[in-house]
Amino acid sequence: MARNTPTITSIETLRNPEYPRIIWVRIGSSDGLFGLGETSFEPATVETWVHENAATYLLGKDATRLDQHWDKLNGYGARHRARSSDMSGLSAVDMALWDLHARRHNVPLYEVLGGLSRDRIRIYNTCAGYSYGVKRAGRLSTGDVDYRPEQPYEDQQAFMTDAGALADDLLSNGITAMKIWPFDKYVDKTNGQFISMSDLDEGTEPFRKIREKVGNRMDVMVEMHSMWNLPSAVRVAKSVEPTEPFWFEDPVPMDNIDALAEFRRSTPIATTASETVATRWAFREMMVKQAMTICMFDISWVGGISEAKRISTMAEAYRMPIAPHDCVGPVTLAFSCQLSLNAPNALIQETVRAYNATWYMDIVNRLPNIESGFVYPDDEPGIGMTLLDSFEKDENTTNRLSEV
Ligand SMILES: [Mg+2]
Repeated sequence: MARNTPTITSIETLRNPEYPRIIWVRIGSSDGLFGLGETSFEPATVETWVHENAATYLLGKDATRLDQHWDKLNGYGARHRARSSDMSGLSAVDMALWDLHARRHNVPLYEVLGGLSRDRIRIYNTCAGYSYGVKRAGRLSTGDVDYRPEQPYEDQQAFMTDAGALADDLLSNGITAMKIWPFDKYVDKTNGQFISMSDLDEGTEPFRKIREKVGNRMDVMVEMHSMWNLPSAVRVAKSVEPTEPFWFEDPVPMDNIDALAEFRRSTPIATTASETVATRWAFREMMVKQAMTICMFDISWVGGISEAKRISTMAEAYRMPIAPHDCVGPVTLAFSCQLSLNAPNALIQETVRAYNATWYMDIVNRLPNIESGFVYPDDEPGIGMTLLDSFEKDENTTNRLSEV
């Protein structure tokens, strides 16, 4: 006997030139509910994929068949195992379907993922400034610094000038871990092929300043943005090791997993990778090769919340913790917090206080419950947020709608 299940009736994409990298996806179902997804980079390409591929398949389909839809949409055109615009589109669609699913059951997303594994999850602050990665389309640039003293947190400027004072300020707000990338500015000198002793001396200064000011009370993550060759990444790691950082993130590009594994074996400090990797098949190889210590992914690029959950479970089988990425937008942060509260092997959740205090709040009606260095669950259905009316009605917000 056929079950009476809701069907997918609309798929909408929204964009705003104020955020040139981001696109939002909203999916409606026949029971009158909506779910929200988000992704970033190449939004025009993602938009085309969502309307020409995803909508063509999804409209009129059973809204409850989440796994089947992921599988079918991954088969559209080609089966991907790398990050791509198609996979970002699929990620945003999957997120919207899961938000919708949880809202239908009128429970928070973490409940349909399997419930809470903890009462709160520790956060770390990525020391980005307000505008880092926000105002320009295209890939991140090493020079993507735009000092705006009128904004509450210019943590990126601060880590390069007085990292000790920044660490002290974070601690006074209950934040006990921070991520910085002081070596990025030397990459362009050699296209990441070599780093000199004097640049290493200068680049390690923020780490020494943090230890001098706050001792070992602060955990410090080293972001390397996959911009160095293997020998240079190893040199950078050796130079920071005396200050005992928490992890090295994306030390080398993720196109050769053997090189990443060699980096990991070269240092006693944890290796974290990688937001640049997508799908369970790519992560499978990284896990089999023991290429990293800590598994990081971005939910809005990796294949959505369902793929992130699968990869988290795979990581658990290797006794490997997960650390979900934030930096795309408020919706992705919401999904990450839900998974960090749910997954038994979640270690820590990335947040950016400069974003939470400013532009994230211009887009959605509420943010995850972050207080004194931790994220706490709330009782709101789904991901607990919707797009603000003021954002949707902004004269520059554009939308494209596919419906049955
Ligand atoms: Mg990163």
